[in-house]
Amino acid sequence: MNDAILVLNAGSSSLKFAVYPYARSPPPILRGKIAGIGTKPVFSVRKTVGVAVPQASPMPLEPSAGLDDLIPKLLDWLNSNRGGVTIRAAGHRVVHGGRTHAEPARVTDVLLTELEALVPLAPLHQPHNLTAIRCVAASNPGLPQIVCFDTSFHRTQNRLSQLFALPRAMTDEGIVRYGFHGLSYDYIAGTLPTHLGGRADGRVIVAHLGSGASMCAMLSRRSFATSMGFTALDGLMMGRRCGALDPGVVLYLMQEKGLTAQDVTSLLYTKSGLLGVSGISNDMAALEAIASAQAQEAIDLFCYRAAGELARLATAIGGLDAIVFTAGIGENSALVRRRICDHLLWMGVEIDRRANDRHATRIGSLNSEVDVLVIPTDEEIIVARATHALTSAKSAPTRLKP
Ligand code: ADP
Repeated sequence: MNDAILVLNAGSSSLKFAVYPYARSPPPILRGKIAGIGTKPVFSVRKTVGVAVPQASPMPLEPSAGLDDLIPKLLDWLNSNRGGVTIRAAGHRVVHGGRTHAEPARVTDVLLTELEALVPLAPLHQPHNLTAIRCVAASNPGLPQIVCFDTSFHRTQNRLSQLFALPRAMTDEGIVRYGFHGLSYDYIAGTLPTHLGGRADGRVIVAHLGSGASMCAMLSRRSFATSMGFTALDGLMMGRRCGALDPGVVLYLMQEKGLTAQDVTSLLYTKSGLLGVSGISNDMAALEAIASAQAQEAIDLFCYRAAGELARLATAIGGLDAIVFTAGIGENSALVRRRICDHLLWMGVEIDRRANDRHATRIGSLNSEVDVLVIPTDEEIIVARATHALTSAKSAPTRLKP
């Protein structure tokens, strides 16, 4: 009766985890995070409703510990602190599913090899997602593991939204706009009827603004177009990533400045965005707290670019009924929401400043032609539901190679 699902969301500098009762759509037993991986790992956990969890014992963490050290430690910690539950299956967020994977899937050695081949398309994320799967398999080879892809939600995109203006042969080999943050968009899409009634199936743009940031234009709560592309580098300005960039800049840096492909990868993925423009931090909350012209310019550029992308996506879906802000910045930064919406006044977007300042769910003013909402996202519950659905059906156990 106390079977549970472990959900892991492994990134380059953080590992988010959650434990859910083994059921269709349950509230979590606990959620936690190891932040600062590679620099100064910090472990935090919080209990949630329903099940009593014994007092968390602090987990000793070496500063240099990588995911392969931390995941076995986390599994040990869960073993001794899980309040009488038995982990029956693990679910993972995996960023890229490529062309072949549109649905959550059970992990096999063949699938792992296929996902490995997609590492160059998501070099910042995919290796960590796969490390998490391998670490769980090493600790518990018989445990069923399920992967849910950030790209899956965008399989419904309009064909024109997916195409780059490149030779057709390249499109045919899969150089197209895939889109990411799909688990977040899936969750938000599921909440829209509660907040918008009949307008939920209208023209809605969801702005997932976190360390990584993207937007998704939905019709009938399905993805029609998105800001991210072939990789998670395209579209909006992000914490450390540049977002959309004239490809001529890359050519110039390589041909005239002698940067290697590796230099450019590191520049565009880790030294650009808020960090690059401010020269101070990749963290929006930190920049908001600093009275520096460069920090302000970084925030201004972030909002200007976000508003521009939102207007482009509104064109794709023929107008706009609602905007939803979500993820770390979208849920918590009244300043960013206000600045973005101020750019969109001409589209009939107007926010109620007081409601915005108190992070209310509905922040559109009475005059606004467009509903403006703040909805906290929950990627982990989407993974937990899929893990339950795929493991509760009777199927042969899969043992992964150690
Ligand atoms: P990820 O899950 O990709 O690590 P998050 O969704 O947690 O990212 O978002 C992290 C971002 O949210 C950081 O830039 C952080 O500064 C920002 N953020 C969190 N809280 C606030 C706040 N109160 N004000 C402004 N920005 C915030």
